[in-house]
Amino acid sequence: MADINIEQIVAQVLAEMQGKEAPKAAAPAPAKAAGGAIPAKSRVAMLTALENYEIKEYPIPTIGDDDILVKVEGCGICGTDAHEFKRDPFGLIPLVLGHEGTGEIVKMGKNVKVDSAGKPLALGDKVVTCMIFKDNPDITMFDLNKQNVGGADVYGLLPDDDIHLNGWFADYIVIRGGSTVFNVSDLDLDSRILIEPCAVLIHAVERAKTTGILRFNSRVVVQGCGPIGLICIAILKTMGTQNIVAVDGEQKRLDFAKELGASATVNFKDHKGIEALTEGVKDAFGGYLADFAFQCTGSPVAHANIYKFIRNGGGLCELGFFINGGDATINPHFDICSKEITTVGSWVYTLRDYATTFDFLKSAKQIGLPINKLITHRFKLEDINEAHKTNLAMAGLKIAIINE
Ligand SMILES: [Zn+2]
Repeated sequence: MADINIEQIVAQVLAEMQGKEAPKAAAPAPAKAAGGAIPAKSRVAMLTALENYEIKEYPIPTIGDDDILVKVEGCGICGTDAHEFKRDPFGLIPLVLGHEGTGEIVKMGKNVKVDSAGKPLALGDKVVTCMIFKDNPDITMFDLNKQNVGGADVYGLLPDDDIHLNGWFADYIVIRGGSTVFNVSDLDLDSRILIEPCAVLIHAVERAKTTGILRFNSRVVVQGCGPIGLICIAILKTMGTQNIVAVDGEQKRLDFAKELGASATVNFKDHKGIEALTEGVKDAFGGYLADFAFQCTGSPVAHANIYKFIRNGGGLCELGFFINGGDATINPHFDICSKEITTVGSWVYTLRDYATTFDFLKSAKQIGLPINKLITHRFKLEDINEAHKTNLAMAGLKIAIINE
């Protein structure tokens, strides 16, 4: 604890020397205790009604022998949060959202010694959570042959209870014994915030590899350059894939796709009709169709289109329909049978993919991919309503809540 206090004091003195403004007061302000000690209460952003967060304060409970108290540093806003904010499809209101969060361990029960991968845990370590184990033997640690974590509970999508500190849109979160927690102290804050969405793509690429068609020298088309498609491109790049064509309708996103590893881009607005668009993709590959395609949009038309971009005997990973986006019309003869296309679906991730993601983020940094630029907007916890509205307006890519 002593080290943490010194760090905080040094940071404060440095900030003052640099003439940084004192954080603006909000009601209620973050609870602060003398000397960096743990305060008695924590703020949370509680979604109390559709499109309405309220900043509430709750006492920080006693930390049990198997529990961990984490001081939240930041948390990304996910598409799932946007759905919950707008429509409450899971019927969870009131609740504390936020599952793409990370922070620092400030208190640990005496039984907590290592993380879910067996790495030692200590006060001051930076962590992320993945899921909460329930009595489902099929969701087993690091077992690729078991189901993914799609049906499991996660912090940030739990009903409110007596503890209240159940989501990452807060100053503190209580990680209960039996949850998966990973020590990610060797990653910077931006990388840690991006772990959860990146795990979705690590899983998709693992699924794609099972076809035997995706190789390092494959021609790969990625359709959709939102955060999901962009991260897909970055992962392919860290695998050594050189021939990646990105397809989207927004030039700004296509330009960023190039920064993250796309070798060429196709703006579908420049091509009228699927035949012209297919020619555009072919041209971008120097006269070839794609060996493999990743479909990263939630648009049924985009799903129907992507088969046309793939060569005979090629492969497809469909991962854009994270939620039900409606039916798509394809021609099974031309699109699948006669082309002998191998298709895989991908949804969420396994715990093993989560651990692989940490290495991806390090590799991406090493080869100079500007992954942190995916976080386009940063808001304080007290401005969370505005943050969600910015997210709904699709004004940026990843929007994050950053605590001071
Ligand atoms: Zn998410």
